[in-house]
Amino acid sequence: MSKETVPMFKFIVLGDQSVGKSSFVKQYSESIFIEAHKPTIGVEFVKKMVVVDKRKVELQIWDTAGQEQFRSMIKSFYRGAAAVFVLYSVNSRDSFEKLDQWLQELQESAHEEIVKILVGNKSDLDRDISKEEAEKFMNENNFSLFFETSAKTGENVEKAFEDTVKLVIMRM
Ligand code: GDP
Repeated sequence: MSKETVPMFKFIVLGDQSVGKSSFVKQYSESIFIEAHKPTIGVEFVKKMVVVDKRKVELQIWDTAGQEQFRSMIKSFYRGAAAVFVLYSVNSRDSFEKLDQWLQELQESAHEEIVKILVGNKSDLDRDISKEEAEKFMNENNFSLFFETSAKTGENVEKAFEDTVKLVIMRM
């Protein structure tokens, strides 16, 4: 009896505290949104089996903490990551301006081929960052895809993950 081997992709979620990283992962993995939950401590991951273009893939989604004291530990978690979602919040210029710091950390800690996805979360709120500005940033910084999402309403969350899976499969 032959057993199907299912490829495993490791995805990482980065971004400033409160941009909605945990909510983004929760919305995708469990389709739920919790208004206020405890800050992520260290690193946690969820697993999800997905079928994209009739191909079964196991996703391991790592949600990283923004707290400085965990940063050194987090570096080892970049190992083997196929893609990284770099989040800002569309209503927070501060979180958008912090993107450079996340990109620098990626450059220092991740391998060059990692697929980079830019995500403007909280699209249900009044925006401070226009789509055009984010698209410009995406193009200047070698992101493969850009999505505006709402972890609250679920808008675009599944699409962000599925399009990323497709892209990673294409690059295999
Ligand atoms: P993290 O620190 O990046 O993991 O952020 P959290 O997931 O803990 O979210 C921070 C706060 O923003 C929480 O109160 C969430 O309920 C809220 N939040 C997260 N995503 C969204 C969203 O898409 N829209 C709105 N309106 N609130 C959100």
